[in-house]
Amino acid sequence: MNSSAKKIRAISIAITTSVFIPGGSAIAANLAYGETAFKEVEYLATNLAGRSVGTQKEQESIDYLTQRLEDFGYEPNLQDFTYEFSGQTLESPNIIATREGTSDKQIIVGAHYDNAPSSSTLDRSNLQGVNDNSSGVAVLLELAQRLEANPENTVKFVLFGAEEIGLVGSEYYANNMSQTEIDNTLVMVNLDSLIIGDKMYFNAGASAATAPELGVYRDLALDIAADLGIDAETNPGLNPNYPEGTGCCSDLESFDGLVPVLAAEATNWEIGEKDGYTQTSNPNVPGGATWHDPATDNLTFINEVFPGLIEERTQNYTQVFDTLLSTLNDSNTSTSVPEPTTALGTFIAVMIGGLLRKRDVDE
Ligand SMILES: [Zn+2]
Repeated sequence: MNSSAKKIRAISIAITTSVFIPGGSAIAANLAYGETAFKEVEYLATNLAGRSVGTQKEQESIDYLTQRLEDFGYEPNLQDFTYEFSGQTLESPNIIATREGTSDKQIIVGAHYDNAPSSSTLDRSNLQGVNDNSSGVAVLLELAQRLEANPENTVKFVLFGAEEIGLVGSEYYANNMSQTEIDNTLVMVNLDSLIIGDKMYFNAGASAATAPELGVYRDLALDIAADLGIDAETNPGLNPNYPEGTGCCSDLESFDGLVPVLAAEATNWEIGEKDGYTQTSNPNVPGGATWHDPATDNLTFINEVFPGLIEERTQNYTQVFDTLLSTLNDSNTSTSVPEPTTALGTFIAVMIGGLLRKRDVDE
């Protein structure tokens, strides 16, 4: 981390430790953090295994997830896109649920709902995809459930299709954003693979390696986690292909360079090729990774090797992001907020101003 990033982080810590804004709406007030997310992980794994592109389970998943968002008071839209896969033309949707805010700014919270498809050598029709990515979908659903009515910033919850065959859904979404939508987006939050891994991470997009101000939301998430007593880190950058503080290899890449991105994932960036793909040093996990493996990315295996981890990680990530959304939504121009909150709002406004100026210079 260079010196200007350190300075940003120091300011951020000073403000967030003095202002703690509890998250949560009245609707979700009686639910413990992670309660909804844990149930959704179990449901998706048990009832919707094998939800890869072009399958019946993919269609059932779309119906189920649309229904859950409706249950939480949203009117989801399906954004259809077509693509070629395995010699076929397929169609999948992104599922978009919007809670309109009182300002013209917005936050995008995304997670892919599809599973890795079968290959010529591995049948994945029974792949539960607990970690990748029931976990991200489940946390997104709980955040949608908890989000207050009339937040300051519009929040768009987007469940992406066809991630596992090349970030197809998120690329379609990003390519169809208007310049106004891009300009008004504070941050894109990506939730992918939140359970299996020795550590919890928050990373910015690759662009933050050369534009440290793009790491402000990563640093805010890390500060919130620290305030909550949750251990979390950022990629230490031991592999030069993946610079310190940045992540990769999921839907965040479709948005990186357009808007600031903040990616959450569990893994271990210090082992294997130090590229984030080796998730754990636990010797009971073959090869240290469960990616796309029906034998390990399932409830039975995870509960046996990592008892309590599904509950712990879904709870922790939900609490951090619920708090982050509350902080950003209560921070800008409201006259009723106490002074320290205004200070945070000013800080974020200054940072956003810096981002916009930087983008102008780049263009
Ligand atoms: Zn994934």
